Formats: sequence, structure tokens, C-alpha cells
Amino acid sequence: MTLETRLLIGLKDILSVQFECRCGARVTRDPEKADRIPAQCGQCGTPWQTGDEESPVYLFVRALRNLRQAGETPFSIRLETNGEPLRQHPKGVSDVVA
Ligand SMILES: [Zn+2]
Repeated sequence: MTLETRLLIGLKDILSVQFECRCGARVTRDPEKADRIPAQCGQCGTPWQTGDEESPVYLFVRALRNLRQAGETPFSIRLETNGEPLRQHPKGVSDVVA
């Protein structure tokens, strides 16, 4: 028998949005403030934004905020994950919560 675990989360279940740089540094934002993406990585200096507010990243975080703030809708949106815990970055860099 194969047992598969999947996890469904509603948009209002999201507690934070995490951005992780290729170097392993992470920044975590409240979902309502997720569009405040740092200009660059605080650890390695890699630029994280181009200033293009129509980029898919900005559109996603704004849509997330707007959908969470929307009133009643005739349906719910849930995201399905594989239910596995998030892997740790090999460098073990800690989060920066803002
Ligand atoms: Zn970095």
C-alpha cells in the first residue's frame, strides 16, 4: 500500500511569504506586506528587484494580498502541496522576518 500525504492550504491560512536568495538568505514577510520585496539580498547583494511592478513576482504577491482581502466569493481557492516539510538550505542561513 502506498500512502501519499498532500496538504491543501487556503489563502487565509498563509501566515507569511518567504523569499529565499540563491545564497540561502531568507526574508519573510507578512502576506499583507509581501509586495515589499527588498531591493537586494542582505547577505550577498544580489539584486532582487528590477523595479518592474508588472513582473510576475509583484503580480503574484499583490494578487495574494488582494484575494485575501476580498470579501465573500462563490468559491474558495486552495493551494495543494506535497505535504513534505521545507528542506533546510545547506548553508543553514537563518531567516530575516520583516
Ligand atoms: Zn543572497
